[in-house]
Amino acid sequence: MKTPGRIRISELLKSTETGSEFVVKGWVRTKRASKHIAFIALNDGSTIHNIQLVVDVPNFDGEILKQITTGASIRAVGVLTESTGSGQPVELQVKNIEVYGTADAQTYPLQKKEHTFEFLREIAHLRPRTNTFGAVLRIRHAMAFAIHKYFNDNGFYYLHTPIITASDAEGAGAMFQVTTLELDQLPKTKNNVIDYGQDFFGKRTSLTVSGQLEGELGAMALSQIYTFGPTFRAENSNTPRHLAEFWMIEPEMAFYEITENMDLAEDFIKYLVKYALDNCADDLAFLNKKDPELVARLAGVVDTAFVRLDYTEGVEILEKSGVRFEYPVSWGADLQAEHERYLVEKHFGKPVILTNYPKEIKAFYMKQNSDGKTVRAMDVLFPAIGEIIGGSQREENFDTLNARINELKIPVKDLWWYLETRKFGSAPHSGFGLGFERLLLFVTGMTNIRDVIPFPRTPKNADF
Ligand code: ATP
Ligand code: MN
Repeated sequence: MKTPGRIRISELLKSTETGSEFVVKGWVRTKRASKHIAFIALNDGSTIHNIQLVVDVPNFDGEILKQITTGASIRAVGVLTESTGSGQPVELQVKNIEVYGTADAQTYPLQKKEHTFEFLREIAHLRPRTNTFGAVLRIRHAMAFAIHKYFNDNGFYYLHTPIITASDAEGAGAMFQVTTLELDQLPKTKNNVIDYGQDFFGKRTSLTVSGQLEGELGAMALSQIYTFGPTFRAENSNTPRHLAEFWMIEPEMAFYEITENMDLAEDFIKYLVKYALDNCADDLAFLNKKDPELVARLAGVVDTAFVRLDYTEGVEILEKSGVRFEYPVSWGADLQAEHERYLVEKHFGKPVILTNYPKEIKAFYMKQNSDGKTVRAMDVLFPAIGEIIGGSQREENFDTLNARINELKIPVKDLWWYLETRKFGSAPHSGFGLGFERLLLFVTGMTNIRDVIPFPRTPKNADF
């Protein structure tokens, strides 16, 4: 279907119909004017590139031209001509312009000069109009589409798992509570504890930290499912890699063991990176100007076999490295980003899938190895980011899983439904979680996770 009433600038820039008349609508990026001629760079978000509007000043309404300043929204009608200037193949010789909305030059925050990302976060309502955020948001869309395409093409079903949950057993992170109780007059029971029986759901509920547990239920019927939804973690970690609200993709597959899980993770992530290279070339070329190794880094991942390494060997490498890490490392320690990045960037120079972690630092549901010490976990570690995927083969044996739950004193009554999958037709199965914004950090080369989501939620920040 044609865009009603206008041609998108992305289409117009590809057009060969010089001599024809077109209508474009968008926001003014810049205007340069002399007595004779004015050049207006117009952008409508359909591409990083602007269309140049050329105005014959002596024959144009001066009052309207005055209103056309950076940030104004306009409709322009003109004739497409080959561009003599460098930079763009075509331009529009303007016949007339209608101003939809002016933007006061004194107060419009996005002027021509480069703004810092910190400043742009304070004007997140306007930053999508910058080149960088336009590029990031288009790439974000392309990646979301590619994720659905990959799974659809490979026989996975999109399963919607609940956002409000009564189980806090997963332990992936601190949770945000959901309640309709009046916080300043909480109902108490006889024993003076909060009476959640009077809460909306009749029990204590929170926002989900992961769709995995319900995802497993889906996989135990449809064989291959994936979730792709918002995820909430109230971790007070103000890092460039953590958000309080982020999006996670969680495939879950019956009949997959850990090696097949790793194969899927590697194939999936390579597909996504290749999709970006093939479909977001203009935006990546723009981002590559700021991060000159970006495109090479992306191409490198597509062509490289990921290293697969036992946690135990990884720790040995770190211990032998002689590097004085901020957090000391030894067998049993949870690896920090600095350790992950050493392995990926310094030691191997490519992505690493680390497996067979100590069971103490991983979740209760991971399949236990016969050594009694490790579980079939797999973390995919990426350059510049560290962990991008966390996954595992799941423990499908009822007794082993139940024993672990008891060992960790996890309240079983909340998990009865999860355990029943191990009673009725249990099967080997595996899955993983990919942080969507971590993927976008890698694909865009942005360095702060707040800059790859339209409106970030972080400690002390829920504006916009
Ligand atoms: P990390 O150790 O980096 O905090 P995690 O081990 O807690 O992550 P998992 O529970 O394994 O994370 O979640 C799966 C994936 O979700 C991670 O590999 C990561 O890509 C992403 N992720 C986890 N926490 C966050 C967060 N707070 N913000 C953005 N992405 C996250
Ligand atoms: Mn993890």
